[in-house]
Amino acid sequence: MGEIIFWTIIRIAIVIPLLWILEAYIPQQFWWLISTATIYAAILHPAIIHYRLFKSKNKEILESTLCSTCAHFDETAVLCMLHDKHPTRVFLPCEGLDWEPRSSNIDSEGIIKS
Ligand code: SF4
Repeated sequence: MGEIIFWTIIRIAIVIPLLWILEAYIPQQFWWLISTATIYAAILHPAIIHYRLFKSKNKEILESTLCSTCAHFDETAVLCMLHDKHPTRVFLPCEGLDWEPRSSNIDSEGIIKS
């Protein structure tokens, strides 16, 4: 996820000054249309595509591993924060020994939801 944010910031840092420079060469009546289309095409659309790829690539880890229900798991980075390692479908950094339920997985009586 950090990589998506990083490259989005890089694209913003390139596109915004470029549009600012090109403002003098673009007819005023088309300025908002061209700048909006450029911002969407060069900044928003690639970020959306990369986010969808990130979600589909990590879908199994996010939905069907022990880590996905653990309090130490950071979904935005697909990272075990306790061991500072990326779990996979076949690799759990703690081998299940440090698993702790998320508070959202515990009901009002203290029983872990399945
Ligand atoms: S502590 Fe264990 S179960 Fe929890 S996220 Fe880390 S590796 Fe996964």
